[in-house]
Amino acid sequence: MAMTIGVLTSGGDAPGMNAAVRAVTRTALSKGMKVYGIRRGYNGLINGDIVELNARSVSGIIQRGGTCIYTARCDEFRYEEGLQKAKAKCEELGIEGIVVVGGDGSFRGAADLSARGINCIGLPGTIDNDIQCTEYTIGYDTALNTAMEMIDKLRDTAESHDRCTVVEVMGRNAGYIAVNVACAVGAEAVITLEVPYDLDKICADITEAKTSGKNHYIVVVAEGVGNSEKIAKEIQEKTGIESRTTILGHVQRGGSPTVRDRVVATQMGCYAVELLEKGIGNRVVGMKDNKIYDVDIQEALAMKKPFEMDVYNAVNMTAF
Ligand code: ADP
Repeated sequence: MAMTIGVLTSGGDAPGMNAAVRAVTRTALSKGMKVYGIRRGYNGLINGDIVELNARSVSGIIQRGGTCIYTARCDEFRYEEGLQKAKAKCEELGIEGIVVVGGDGSFRGAADLSARGINCIGLPGTIDNDIQCTEYTIGYDTALNTAMEMIDKLRDTAESHDRCTVVEVMGRNAGYIAVNVACAVGAEAVITLEVPYDLDKICADITEAKTSGKNHYIVVVAEGVGNSEKIAKEIQEKTGIESRTTILGHVQRGGSPTVRDRVVATQMGCYAVELLEKGIGNRVVGMKDNKIYDVDIQEALAMKKPFEMDVYNAVNMTAF
């Protein structure tokens, strides 16, 4: 009998999750599998919020941000009782494998369920690109482009008013968005958790640039640094230049996914179904040397990913 699989999205949403759901569904259907959409992350497995998906269920979603099967966090799934409920629901519906699109937390859940006999494959879905085992996460490119467009707009007003704009971009644990966006918008400085920063030096550079005729400044701060208001206040005090903070926030999580996010999500979705078809579970699909690959979940969670110091240095080299 053909296999039955499920797909769910978990943790924070990211543009491209829909493309992944579509790819998983269509690939599985083409192999004669039955596919269930499990709604609101692991909650759907526990409370039975599950719908069968056909080819038309995933029509017209590839271009949409968010996730059509919703996402959520689920505390119950961290405990044995929750895991057993989820396992029982899979057995009831004949679900032998699940594709989980989410972040590290979601992968821990996927490992726990795999250890209880339901093969799970994790796909990296987060705008922050903060998953160690992969060079790229679904949603990252869209978030970068959204942040870049927003900061371009902020530059117009900063320039008109001779201001410094301190922009906080997302990235609670990682400065990948901050450093790449800073590079793309031509920011005067970038402040992230990964590299110690010297505000006196930034202010001195700004003051010097002012004497050469520069009239507006953009400082990009990663969310994780946590004090963009204070940074703006200090820049104003030390340079005498009016400084304002803008926190871009969740606008970076929404919107129609870019080409890259749609393509990577589709490729990873196809790849995940092929693993499940072979009876393989407890793996994360990632990108290494620009190629899709898979890795054991525990190994994936223990990996370290280097910070992009080359991009960081390029920002500073081209800032003034
Ligand atoms: P992300 O997947 O984006 O990292 P979270 O860390 O919030 O987001 O995790 C999403 C969900 O994954 C949690 O709500 C929970 O259901 C599940 N999860 C997280 N950590 C664990 C864990 N250690 N064991 C089992 N499930 C977990």
